[in-house]
Amino acid sequence: MPRCIDCRREVLWTVTDAGKRLAVDPEPDESGNTAVYRDGTGTRRSRRPSEELPIMAWEKLYVPHVANCPARKPAATQKRPAVLPPGVLDLAAYRRKAGGRP
Ligand SMILES: [Zn+2]
Repeated sequence: MPRCIDCRREVLWTVTDAGKRLAVDPEPDESGNTAVYRDGTGTRRSRRPSEELPIMAWEKLYVPHVANCPARKPAATQKRPAVLPPGVLDLAAYRRKAGGRP
């Protein structure tokens, strides 16, 4: 089974509608947002289910690996998390406190 080059976890490589390669976690997951099926040549195809094209009987939902990849997480979360991990200073709040007083 192929592995993620970043975290070495096992992944499945799929090909999206746009012809791009997308790694998904190897186990199907109902909470995933990517529908995967095998085409006639054995290639795994992935796509985003939509209202017009919901998940089909021959497709299974998977989670894109980047959503779970521990090595990719800092890059994937561009926005600051709502809850800061312990020990991380909330700079905006710090500045408000520090500069807010005359
Ligand atoms: Zn990874």
